[in-house]
Amino acid sequence: MNRFRREEIAAAQVLFDVPPTPFSWSVSRHLLFRRCRRAYFLHYYFAQGGWDPYADPLLQFTWSTKKSKTFHERLEHHLEEILRFSFDTLRNIPPAFRKRMLATRFHARLAVLEQRWREEDESKTFDRKKAVEELREALAAFLNSPTCTAIAAAQNLTLFNKAFKPTFRFHDIELWYNPGLIWREGKQLISCRIHFTKPEPSFIRAESDMFALSAREHTGTLETLSIFRYFAAGEWKEIQCYGDPDSCERRIQTDVREMTDLASGEKVSMIDFPPAAEKACLNCRYSVVCSAISEQFDEV
Ligand code: SF4
Repeated sequence: MNRFRREEIAAAQVLFDVPPTPFSWSVSRHLLFRRCRRAYFLHYYFAQGGWDPYADPLLQFTWSTKKSKTFHERLEHHLEEILRFSFDTLRNIPPAFRKRMLATRFHARLAVLEQRWREEDESKTFDRKKAVEELREALAAFLNSPTCTAIAAAQNLTLFNKAFKPTFRFHDIELWYNPGLIWREGKQLISCRIHFTKPEPSFIRAESDMFALSAREHTGTLETLSIFRYFAAGEWKEIQCYGDPDSCERRIQTDVREMTDLASGEKVSMIDFPPAAEKACLNCRYSVVCSAISEQFDEV
């Protein structure tokens, strides 16, 4: 190996030894850790500092990759925003009128979003016309679903949505999650989340258990059901899954032990986070960064 190559690899080793970051747990962190250690390292450690315009270009690229969203991830965010806003304004509306009011709210909120996009001059890579069409279709389908009827008839909808925050502390660990739309039916608390692609079984299991843990910690409720509404093969479908708070607790304990073991020193080293088997690479957002690292630095 020539001197230049040795120096290049030595420089890379410095770049890939990064300071630890404050620890918190989430279902997405859990899934990424189980899917690929290298992607996990890039997302939760290496990308930090990439916002600095003077940072190494690879770092900047990793940061922008971390922050980038697919078309459907953006739609999910906007759809959730519209649903939350619309349901939260139903507080003083009698149940018999709520679905009609919801249709008006959906329409108004979508118009506000369209206006915002026009003013913000969104990136040309984001097809706003297609986005509005898909959101309109998703809202119309949702309005006709049994889930929407159940939510519109629920009591204390606003109260419960406000009681569930996206972050809370559990055994001194900060947990993050998406509570979705929450309502109560008898003894049971129900949460609904909407996706534009079919969620993976591992995501459904972990999210349902996480909601169960949150329900137990926030309200003492032991019976929970998560509904995942998603678009597939041209139609909207639903998967229902009961949650188990104990299973979530065990998942968190195992993850925290393994994750903190790998990041307990003053530096977190990429060498401790190897790439996954090829089958995990399909649809990986870090594939370009990952190849650049492997090709340029011979897997330091
Ligand atoms: S491309 Fe594959 S090995 Fe590389 S980070 Fe992504 S999942 Fe991991």
